Amino acid sequence: MKISIIFPMYNEADCVEELLLRLYKILQTRQESFEIIAIDNGSSDDTAARLKSHGVIFEKLENFSSLKIVQLIRNFGYDSAVITGIEHSSGDKAIIMDGDLQDPPEVIPHFLAKSYEGYDVVYGKREKRTEGFFISLFIKVYYFIWSRIYSKTFPDKAGNFGVIDRNVIDLIKALPEREMYFRGIRAWVANNSIGLVYARNQRTKGKTKFSFLKYVIYGINGITSFTVFPIRAITVTGILGICFSFFLSLTIIFSKIQSFFGVTQDSIRASGWSSLTLLVLVSISLNLFCLGVIGEYVGKIYAEVKGRPRVVVRKTDCIKGRKSN
Ligand code: UDP
Ligand code: MG
Repeated sequence: MKISIIFPMYNEADCVEELLLRLYKILQTRQESFEIIAIDNGSSDDTAARLKSHGVIFEKLENFSSLKIVQLIRNFGYDSAVITGIEHSSGDKAIIMDGDLQDPPEVIPHFLAKSYEGYDVVYGKREKRTEGFFISLFIKVYYFIWSRIYSKTFPDKAGNFGVIDRNVIDLIKALPEREMYFRGIRAWVANNSIGLVYARNQRTKGKTKFSFLKYVIYGINGITSFTVFPIRAITVTGILGICFSFFLSLTIIFSKIQSFFGVTQDSIRASGWSSLTLLVLVSISLNLFCLGVIGEYVGKIYAEVKGRPRVVVRKTDCIKGRKSN
């Protein structure tokens, strides 16, 4: 049995030494052989150099296969890095974790034990969210929307940390799409998955690479990669708008006829300027919003049609261990 451990790193030089050391301590207690795949996502610090220099500790391990350091030419984002790691993996199972020590390596044996019970996906569920109030609130609302619009959903405390089986790795590798939302794809290809609660650490070294805006963009990307619900919602809103306008025109025509025959005063003529302006503003913004939603999908089609590779690799280094073949 061979296990691949995959983590992306974008300017995480401060975390390298501790992460590798803690992984070493875990791996030396295991029977399986291990390969480590670190994706250096275009770091401008010395993340890759430190991975190379501290990575030699693994050479002592009996069950160590290799440490691959895949350096990308720039930061291609979290998901592209993880998928690149999965593409490079040759293990029977793969562990995906963050490279910033927030996902404690000490949890890996528990994940593996669950995986051996026959689950093809074991994902970590956070005990509680460590993000700030606004981001946590946004994530809650986001997952609520997810659960309403997409049936094959995942709980809001599910993270990327977890184990996937070889069949899941092969399915992900076989998918033709370039831009992938890992967490969603994992739920989509999984046959039987299970969540395992773990305590996610606070970040003690380095800084988060996700701003609130980046979370919002990440969220929109997640939804638009999985469902056309937003476009359907636009169609339904349009149909409702047409029905409403039709009803409004009927009442206007009716009141015109009434005023023509002198039954009532023409109440329409007395309608206010401000309400009219408001209506125009609302319809313009709604129009822009709808165009934006459609634009999101057109942008996705554009990116896929261009067919560019998901990432560009600058260089791959490999530290081989005793179990390498
Ligand atoms: N990361 C990356 N590219 C990005 C953002 C993040 O490779 O554009 C890596 C980062 O180095 C870390 C992991 O993905 O190892 C998780 O990122 P981060 O800690 O910034 O996210 P958070 O935990 O704050 O959600
Ligand atoms: Mg983090």
